[in-house]
Amino acid sequence: SKRIEIAQHREDEIGRLVKTLNNLLARLENSFYRQKQFNADVSHELRTPISVIKAHVDDALELDQHLTTEQKNIFLTIKNQVDQMNSMISQMLILARADDNNVKLDKEKFDLIIVIAAVIEEMNLQAAEKDIKIESNFKQQSEFLVKADLSLITQLLLNLVDNAIKYTRSGGKIKISLTDLNNYYKISVIDNGIGIKDTDLNNIFKRFYRVDKSRSRQYGGTGLGLSICKWIVDMHGGEITVKSNWGSGTEFSVFLLKEKSSSDFN
Ligand code: ADP
Repeated sequence: SKRIEIAQHREDEIGRLVKTLNNLLARLENSFYRQKQFNADVSHELRTPISVIKAHVDDALELDQHLTTEQKNIFLTIKNQVDQMNSMISQMLILARADDNNVKLDKEKFDLIIVIAAVIEEMNLQAAEKDIKIESNFKQQSEFLVKADLSLITQLLLNLVDNAIKYTRSGGKIKISLTDLNNYYKISVIDNGIGIKDTDLNNIFKRFYRVDKSRSRQYGGTGLGLSICKWIVDMHGGEITVKSNWGSGTEFSVFLLKEKSSSDFN
């Protein structure tokens, strides 16, 4: 990454001041770097103990018939919190990657339909627990080819659908639509949930921003999801937009550059 430095042309007092400033800047940069590295290392190190706890809780829950209802509820609560810690750590590791200026995407050619189908498959159970239906509009015959980082695009859509489920009441509906535009494909995740106030719309893509902290805690959010979504979209030269009506629903749209299919070259 490029070092920030003020050009120094003079040898007088101002020149010495500039030199001191440059020294300070270099030290600041160094400490930022160490802080970020520390975050990445901690996130990584937490993975092992958490997976050990998770394995033990799963074992405990296997003892089903030997447990009282109270004991079972305690283990279920632990399991829930451990799952939450796990997803926070995954998010922090992605953010650590985002802070690395030399980050490289692992790009490949794939069809968006396949990713969306996989995301729906993965999220269906979570949605069903709240009696929420996930629908999609596209025809299997058409191709929606992009050249992108498959695991990051999957993460992006998982985040959006996860939010749509979290912030939609039981019995609600989520629609995922895929539209073919001139140079872009547009993926929209539309819910008929609680919505977002206009005053919050400008802030939701910021790290750690949550509209209602007490309510978000109940939903188990970190305020990191959308900042990750924005980073992923930016890295791909795309765009993410949001429209929302407070009380009646939200629509997130992602625009990704099309990859020409081989038949287009004929
Ligand atoms: P969190 O982990 O809190 O969900 P996000 O960065 O994913 O963090 O989202 C930031 C905030 O934006 C959330 O706390 C929530 O208030 C709001 N939000 C995100 N998606 C939706 C949605 N589909 N409907 C209503 N509010 C949403």
